[in-house]
Amino acid sequence: MTATIIDGKAFAARVRGQVAEHVARLKADHDIIPGLAVVLVGEDPASQVYVRSKGRMTVEVGMNSFEHKLEADTSETDLLNLIQKLNNDPQVNGILVQLPLPGHLDEDLVINTIAPEKDVDGFHISNVGLLGTGQKSMVPCTPLGCLMMLREHHGSLSGKEAVVIGRSNIVGKPMAQLLLGDSCTVTIAHSRTRDLPEVVRRADIVVAAVGRPQMVPGDWIKPGATVIDVGINRIDKVDGGTRLVGDADYDSCAATAGAITPVPGGVGPMTIACLLANTLTATCRANNINEPENLTA
Ligand code: NDP
Repeated sequence: MTATIIDGKAFAARVRGQVAEHVARLKADHDIIPGLAVVLVGEDPASQVYVRSKGRMTVEVGMNSFEHKLEADTSETDLLNLIQKLNNDPQVNGILVQLPLPGHLDEDLVINTIAPEKDVDGFHISNVGLLGTGQKSMVPCTPLGCLMMLREHHGSLSGKEAVVIGRSNIVGKPMAQLLLGDSCTVTIAHSRTRDLPEVVRRADIVVAAVGRPQMVPGDWIKPGATVIDVGINRIDKVDGGTRLVGDADYDSCAATAGAITPVPGGVGPMTIACLLANTLTATCRANNINEPENLTA
């Protein structure tokens, strides 16, 4: 079997197009321009790249982008004060604090200081609780992007066996909640799971969010299953230089799976598209305007 490639890059471009249309309508009908504030503390090179592309795409869909770059030794008080200021700023509908933060800053405290309704990353404890109890919340961007691709590919997910490998707060756990919300039978696997290959083999849907390059081989995949590869790992090429690979071994998985997301060009682009979708959703909710239903869970 040769798997269908789920083209996250093309899907993300469509999502951004839909967001841009809604943003244009908000402006024309209500004179509202959604605003996304991104806070970067320190000079982590990967974070700088992410923040730059988030800012560029925010502007491309017609939203206002507010970037706040703080020194690596910024005090917790100064950072919390900035977040409070953004919480109270009516021009700001979404706030994202780029993680990881330097070690002297308490990540949980910082995230939980963001107003939940502006928490476009969906990491605030209130949003975690709302998602866990099946209520309307801000949904973490990466799992939301995975869910959108799965719904697009399968239509209904009801009754499917889903195995999520990884139990992090930002990917694994919210992914499992979303799949449960769509009536999958969900297993969350992690580093202590016994006989991981057998667990994965029963899945109709495998979401790999481990952070280990090419860890999931094709012979763990049930023929015809869908593989969503969240991993982003940089490895050395045999002829020098580096390349990006996922947590699934693409070639062997693609030979067995029914569908698979590539790395790069799968989950990654959907994450930023969902950040923009969440900012739009937050703006609609803040202004009591109907939100686009297909852009959230
Ligand atoms: P974490 O390191 O926070 O979590 C990794 C999870 O994988 C843990 O739950 C860990 O289990 C589990 N794990 C580690 N080793 C094994 C193993 N041998 N067998 C089974 N489970 C294992 O990572 P994240 O969730 O933050 O990210 C996962 C991957 O996704 C990374 O490659 C990251 O770069 C990528 N990512 C991609 C994004 C995108 O936009 N595409 C966004 C966010 C992340 P335990 O809890 O027991 O330690």
